[in-house]
Amino acid sequence: MKDFLSRTIREVQQGIEQSESSCTQLVQQYLNRIDEQKHLNAYLEVFGQEALARAAELDTKHADKKPKGKLFGTVIAIKDNICYAHHKVSAGSKILDGFTSVFSATVVDRLLAEDAIIIGRTNCDEFAMGSSNENSAYGKVLNAQDNTRVPGGSSGGSAVAVQANLCHASLGSDTGGSIRQPASFCGIVGLKPTYGRVSRYGLVAYASSFDQIGPFTHHVEDAALLMEVISGKDAQDATSSSQMVEEYASKLSFSGKAKIAVFGSTLQSEGLNAEVKSAMENLLIDLKNEGHIVEEMDFDYLQYLIATYYVLTTAEASSNLARFDGVHAGYRAKNAQEMDAVYKRSRTEGFGKEVKNRIMLGTFVLSAGYYDAYYSRAQKVRRILTDKINYILSSYDFILMPTSPTVAFRFGEKTENPVEMYLADIYTVLANLTGIPAISLPLAADAQGLPIGVQVLSGKFQEAKLLAFSNYLMHIGRPKQL
Ligand code: GLN
Repeated sequence: MKDFLSRTIREVQQGIEQSESSCTQLVQQYLNRIDEQKHLNAYLEVFGQEALARAAELDTKHADKKPKGKLFGTVIAIKDNICYAHHKVSAGSKILDGFTSVFSATVVDRLLAEDAIIIGRTNCDEFAMGSSNENSAYGKVLNAQDNTRVPGGSSGGSAVAVQANLCHASLGSDTGGSIRQPASFCGIVGLKPTYGRVSRYGLVAYASSFDQIGPFTHHVEDAALLMEVISGKDAQDATSSSQMVEEYASKLSFSGKAKIAVFGSTLQSEGLNAEVKSAMENLLIDLKNEGHIVEEMDFDYLQYLIATYYVLTTAEASSNLARFDGVHAGYRAKNAQEMDAVYKRSRTEGFGKEVKNRIMLGTFVLSAGYYDAYYSRAQKVRRILTDKINYILSSYDFILMPTSPTVAFRFGEKTENPVEMYLADIYTVLANLTGIPAISLPLAADAQGLPIGVQVLSGKFQEAKLLAFSNYLMHIGRPKQL
């Protein structure tokens, strides 16, 4: 099949329909590419034989002219914190070493029910904590465009798997930017859905009131199709919403004029790279020229976002990660006799440095003496932010801002100073703190050709409108070299 790598899912399916290719050929081509690009370390495990067997089944289905699912023949990789029955899942951590999941995440069941092919599990920062993929117990993932640079995190493996065409699409999870920021660094599309749009059942929890699963793709249309499949109420996740799931992929034409809010503080922010800033400014000029309403406004909360996010997510993480005790599952310290020693040594040896930092920070902000000063105060800030954002989005269609203050940085550049690493999340955590959907679009590049992502945020459960506008933006503005 010629050029199948650049096609949309629907185009690939048409190719199969017209016998230009078979599912088996598609899987084989991806397996060959994965083998050639091993050095990127995007996959922790490739389900090669199994993917080929599944492809053969689907080819038979095609030959027998049976009805096909929406994702027929789509080759998908899943982040290694999404459970898949009878497959290993490690969340990038040594503490889950050797652990095999006994059930599948709802998203996995939904993909398979629509005839997708799952080709492997992708590398990620340990327990999805990180912004560069340097925190995985299984080594860093390389950005395919420049191997000296990070792919972003924490879903770096899923992003690079799509960037380097090692699968057609992938799933990641986004607690504070882990889909959008790597999408931005790798020049692809990444969507964090509204909190509750996609079931979290079977996602290894980091911060439960923030986590969402979402897609990485080359095309907005593919993200829309994946969202149609993975979204919706799930009896296994009480926080999943019963709001109707729209047919996002058939609602991608955007007409009319958008009313767009831009926060002055996001463009005046100290750490914002000059090229990212001018890419944003150019896009805003283009949008005005196209007749859209773009209004700059004050948003005085930018400076509080990182602190609020890290107080709340570490608190939730310290509780979620208490279950990894060396007793129930995964890694257990050798020769530890007493119960206390089993817990302490398994956790000491099993968790990496960043995860330990966060467990300690989270335990601290929840402790009796500090609860009011940190945790409870951060909860109040979260409420104020949510009210403010909902108020703005009641009269504006979208908020636009960069996805990340910089392009992909180099390995080691921010590892010495965790606060500097945390600041990389300044523009992404807002959507998770307030529960709204947000997408990163590869709309520009810097002078060296490194991708710059533009982030579009919309009101809760407005994925249809967000995806349609994103599709429009990709057609007016891509790719722009400064
Ligand atoms: N970089 C952020 C963090 O480390 C976001 C991670 C994520 O979204 N999973 O918490």
